[in-house]
Amino acid sequence: MEVVTRRYLFDKMIEQNSPSINDKLEYLQNYLLVSYGDSDEDKKYIKKKFSYFKTEIKKRWSKARSTLEKFLISNDAWLAGTFVIPIKTYNKPGRPTKIFSECSDRTKRRKTEEVRSSVSKEVIVHAAQVILQKEGKRNASQVLKDITNSPASANECKKIHSKSKTQDPLTPREALRMCVDADLTRSQYEIVRATNRSHFPCYELVLKAKEECYPPKETIRVTASCAESDLQSLLDHTVTRLSIFLEEVLMTLTEIERNSLQIICKWGCDGSQQAQYKQKFMNDADSDANIFLSSFVPLQIVCGKDKRKIVWQNPTPSPRYCRPIRFRFIKESVDITKDEINYVRDSVKSLKATEMELNGQKFSFSHSLKMTMVDGKVCNVATDTKSTSRCYICGATSKEFNDLSKKNEIHPESLEFGLSNLHARIRLFESILHLAYKLPVRKYRERKTEAEKMLEQQKKTEIQQRFREEVGILVDMPKCNFGNTNDGNTSRRFFENPYLAAEITGIDFNFIHRIKVILEAISSGHKIDVPKFDKYAMETAKLYVELYGWHPMTPTMHKILVHGGKVIENSLVPIGQLSEEAAEARNKHFRSYRLNFAR
Ligand SMILES: [Zn+2]
Repeated sequence: MEVVTRRYLFDKMIEQNSPSINDKLEYLQNYLLVSYGDSDEDKKYIKKKFSYFKTEIKKRWSKARSTLEKFLISNDAWLAGTFVIPIKTYNKPGRPTKIFSECSDRTKRRKTEEVRSSVSKEVIVHAAQVILQKEGKRNASQVLKDITNSPASANECKKIHSKSKTQDPLTPREALRMCVDADLTRSQYEIVRATNRSHFPCYELVLKAKEECYPPKETIRVTASCAESDLQSLLDHTVTRLSIFLEEVLMTLTEIERNSLQIICKWGCDGSQQAQYKQKFMNDADSDANIFLSSFVPLQIVCGKDKRKIVWQNPTPSPRYCRPIRFRFIKESVDITKDEINYVRDSVKSLKATEMELNGQKFSFSHSLKMTMVDGKVCNVATDTKSTSRCYICGATSKEFNDLSKKNEIHPESLEFGLSNLHARIRLFESILHLAYKLPVRKYRERKTEAEKMLEQQKKTEIQQRFREEVGILVDMPKCNFGNTNDGNTSRRFFENPYLAAEITGIDFNFIHRIKVILEAISSGHKIDVPKFDKYAMETAKLYVELYGWHPMTPTMHKILVHGGKVIENSLVPIGQLSEEAAEARNKHFRSYRLNFAR
């Protein structure tokens, strides 16, 4: 409800410029209906209330001989009276009234006090029953009737209700999942379990479930500086575990499909540095400063003609699916990398299809492993590219990168490696940064004077400082142990806001934006329209040459802008799924396992 004075209404009415009082009144009525008549009921009520007001005004108006002055003088007291407009609560000025169901229990008690004190309990309960019945809530009405008639049935009702609330206990596998997701140690799990012993299985059962996740013990070899698992049994095990999860889907397949199943995986190897621990090795030449790891991630299970039917799709590029093939405490080098590639490639060559039985049906899975979880360094080794400034796909050197008309022949086998999405983002971010440092001098490898060197250094410091203050990231700073601060996160933050990045570095906004779009496309995990990608990438390359022709593209930029489309076209699964991100995240896990789960 809203209460206004009659004078308020009268003034509103006089506003209207028509000479006749009837027109003025009609205008006022419409005004009220439009402003306050939300429902038909409101409208009806407003009309009714207003008709009294109308008659009254007309009477008084003719008494004042239709002159405003006279009217105002003789009706001063009457105009000070009130008029009640029935309206919805939200039109009311001031603090809005809550609807009843949203009120607190205390407010509800206060609001119902009047009803409770004036109406007997039986009447209220009966009224509630009738209302529920009327609204079609017959069960609720019946329950209300029953529980108010006998206290025993009320107890019964409460018991049933609380029973349905307790959950089934966790299976060991579910408990294991929780432990792994939350990184729980045994003692942490025991604490959680103590809160509800019937809900959580005992730790021994969880441990058993965990053991089921490992391939058979005899296929794993561990020495002081190396641990490896037989690739065939690792794949067999992966397929078996996945098929437990996929049982329902697998049972719907036809015989041809059951015999043509294929699991597509990506694999790769990479070295990483880590902190050294006080650990004595049997062989003094061994050291735990470096680790070299090869691993694979299952991506899809497909079947049928042309392998078109997808039975399973890895939902995320998460490290959960990353399965280590071998890791060694050894420093990454060309020979070691080459050795590792050959080792895995040989294992892949000798793989046999996994045969298995499920509910009396036979299934056969072949394996397809693609080496795509790799960074540029490993690609160079795999293709025997000696110089890091040479493109491993077409063999062009950095001097030729800016000549876009030149098209070298492509080595088809090098397209297999994908685009190394994670590293691509870091490398592109770095190339933009390094280009920005050189902007004031505009010299690539030519001799620089001392003053020019100073200028470059100045620009670098300025850029670093602004990124630190305005974006909160450290760029291009060496880290205390190894590497530098340019990691996936820093580069992601850089491309997140291309306006700011362009403003700080002084590099063209359009160019940074285009690189961002390309990076997002290749890591999206969706299918990419190759001709469109090619066109966009080529335009971006042209833009680069036009703006920064004095500085050759970096190999990564060349790879993505010039060969990106070809690589995408060649890929079995969408290029974003081939990322080496999973393996990189694994390195982090590996460090934490080494620290916390040594025994
Ligand atoms: Zn190339």
